[in-house]
Amino acid sequence: LEPAWQFMIRTRTPGGVLTPAQWLGLDGVASRFAERGLRITTRQAIQFHGVIKRELKPTLQAINAALIDTIAACGDVNRNVTVGVNPDETPLHAAVWAQAAALSEHLLPRTRAYHEIWLDGEKLADSGEEAEPLYGDTYLPRKFKTGFALPPYNDIDVFAQDLGFIAIAERGELRGYDVVAGGGMGATHGDAATYPRLARMLGFIAPEHAIAVAAAVLTVQRDWGDRVQRKRARLKYTIETHGLDAFRAEVERRAGVRFAPPAPFRFIHNGDRFGWAPGADGRLHLTVRILSGRVRDDAGARVQSGLRAIAALLDAQADGAQLRLTPNQNLTIANVPARLRDAVDARVAEHGLDRAGGTPLRQAALACVALPTCALAMAEAERYLPRAVARIDALLDRHGLSESPLHLRISGCPNGCSRPYLGEIALVGKAPGRYNLMLGADHRGQRLNALHLENADEDAILAALDSLFARYARERAPGERFGDFVVRAGVAAARETVEFPFA
Ligand code: SF4
Repeated sequence: LEPAWQFMIRTRTPGGVLTPAQWLGLDGVASRFAERGLRITTRQAIQFHGVIKRELKPTLQAINAALIDTIAACGDVNRNVTVGVNPDETPLHAAVWAQAAALSEHLLPRTRAYHEIWLDGEKLADSGEEAEPLYGDTYLPRKFKTGFALPPYNDIDVFAQDLGFIAIAERGELRGYDVVAGGGMGATHGDAATYPRLARMLGFIAPEHAIAVAAAVLTVQRDWGDRVQRKRARLKYTIETHGLDAFRAEVERRAGVRFAPPAPFRFIHNGDRFGWAPGADGRLHLTVRILSGRVRDDAGARVQSGLRAIAALLDAQADGAQLRLTPNQNLTIANVPARLRDAVDARVAEHGLDRAGGTPLRQAALACVALPTCALAMAEAERYLPRAVARIDALLDRHGLSESPLHLRISGCPNGCSRPYLGEIALVGKAPGRYNLMLGADHRGQRLNALHLENADEDAILAALDSLFARYARERAPGERFGDFVVRAGVAAARETVEFPFA
């Protein structure tokens, strides 16, 4: 008799784009195999939690039957490529998404082992035909994350990526990318050699050079990354060890591309926008709030049933409709013909889907999965989020701040899957019921927060926030965000910030 092992399976869905038929397929997989439903991740993928060991293979086969795969969704490879969700500017979004999807394909491992093991593919002879042009025999020293952002929205948190492409457009046409490298959230409590870091600027490239530059960044990391200390194996430490100039020069040499000086861009925020938005072609896009990305039916709302009903409607009646997973764990029902708006609205209302997101705090709050699913969790995150939002909202209300936008992020450990170090307020798990309270990131994803209280319980955290909100209400400048205020007031140190002359 062996233990009743359960597993998590994650999809590879570049930019989080799914057809209604694919959504229905994944919904069916969740209903049949995953104990806790679907979960939308901060990398625009779907996670299935609670898949028992003997059902791993049928689950993967069912996912593949929906024309989705899970290749390189985990492991020391390039992970799911994220793309800013910007349905209002469809032609440009489409161009950037297409580039991201092509890059995702290019950076896939070439091995057929996945097909052989999980999909009953033909067994390959040991003939050397499994050569990996990008990953070689050793793959990467650690995971590698790539994302594309379309200013003015930094919803993917491009400076948290190992490799980030910031799209530069002119009159709606894609002109190229400012490329940043070496961002990453992960850290280890009590180990000063590990820390979150913002990506640094390499420079501007034309769109046709994106794949060559990405391959060069990835292979430099493959060859230069630390293979002795795993905690120091991410690209951010590689760049620090070798220096940004040396790293940039090696990328240029391998790619055969010279970086131009970065082109101007400006981010205005790193959250999602909710409700209906018109597209450039007359179609409509509805973003709904999915707290912590958890898609299931419960007493509050029948989210899974509602999205199933909407996907079925669109599958039957709307060519080109999509369900897009956002990098902030929400869902955009995209490319809806105007004639179907009322029908979608009816299903949203009938199932209690959240089209507005609630208070500004609740709209932007993120949490990783943490307990009971993640083995690395030290404290609650997803299950604590509703209570944390309610209690912090009550404090904001007390100080007349309930309409103030504020980004709260909670993670169950310092690995930072909910990108907590970019939250204006963040709780990073230390032990059950205890968190490090981090303050002072900005709302554009361009400044890291800093430690304010260590290993604090809820009472201490709320007491600290209560007095800070009182000061914020009294002393803030017009339009000043809480994250900016605590830095200006000297409450939080201004940790690493990305400031370009044109920002
Ligand atoms: Fe697990 Fe930590 Fe990631 Fe949360 S941040 S999902 S606890 S590894």
